[in-house]
Amino acid sequence: MASIKTVGIIGAGQMGSGIAHVVALGGYDVFLHDVSPDRVSASLKQIERNMSRQVVRGIIDQAAMDQGIKRIKPAPELKDIGATDLAIEAATEDEEVKKSIFRALTPFLGSDTLLASNTSSISITRLASISDRPERFIGLHFMNPVPLMNLVEIIRGIATDAPTYETAVNFAKSLGKTTANAEDFPAFIVNRVLVPMINEAIYTLYEGVGTVEAIDTALKLGANHPMGPLELGDFIGLDTVLSIMNVLHDGLADSKYRPCPLLTKYVEAGWLGRKTGRGFYDYRGEHPVPTR
Ligand code: NAD
Repeated sequence: MASIKTVGIIGAGQMGSGIAHVVALGGYDVFLHDVSPDRVSASLKQIERNMSRQVVRGIIDQAAMDQGIKRIKPAPELKDIGATDLAIEAATEDEEVKKSIFRALTPFLGSDTLLASNTSSISITRLASISDRPERFIGLHFMNPVPLMNLVEIIRGIATDAPTYETAVNFAKSLGKTTANAEDFPAFIVNRVLVPMINEAIYTLYEGVGTVEAIDTALKLGANHPMGPLELGDFIGLDTVLSIMNVLHDGLADSKYRPCPLLTKYVEAGWLGRKTGRGFYDYRGEHPVPTR
């Protein structure tokens, strides 16, 4: 089993930031990289705000926060990730983007570096085949928001070896997370179930069965879900929801996974949910307002 001390994170969006947060509090040194350097500075500010909130709530103390913040360092170049013990890719949910990252990273990798992807849906076996070490490549699927959500789904590619799997499980546990194993099929377990439900909620809106408010209220109070499905889609990011539906549709070749045209339209408009200020709700005012 490999010993992990330094962790590289590629992609400093919602998930990369959350992963950096919990990994730094877990006592690991973190190197954070993004193709847009301003995303890294925005991420560092966000992590500081989120940790401060945890201090106020008594979840962590000030000393833990100070040490955690000190452990996260920007990695301006992708090659800065190469020397880490574990590199976790958390970039945009697009197979070509992810493949180009692993292709570009490979020449800089230390011989023992383990590779992981936080993909929500894309085949770990296919991503691993791009690297020079498919046996030391694994899916580590953190949930959003990472500091609050207890699960990490672990996905082995066809070639992933036992020591890599054990290291990944122990790493997730060292962050206080619980793991669940999923086989390497499109969208694994959580998103195989969750994302078609969100897509179905969008069809319900598209067909006029209910308004945004009615659909979310119905699922919150009628099925005891903590968030309505449209609110949840906005929280995940509608571009990510659409990518996952496309992976399910292409990978399982079943028309029941066809993405709702209204979802496509929102993504084409750049209304991606919370992260862009507008999705099924408009977040730019004091309170979210439904957009239909
Ligand atoms: P996001 O849009 O918030 O962030 C993606 C980041 O990747 C951006 O900062 C972007 O600049 C960066 N990026 C794009 N191309 C890059 C490249 N070539 N090199 C380096 N960085 C690059 O998206 P997110 O919600 O953080 O999702 C990231 C990954 O995590 C996706 O694979 C997604 O499926 C997965 N995921 C998302 C959720 C969720 O709820 N949003 C949950 C679990 C897993």
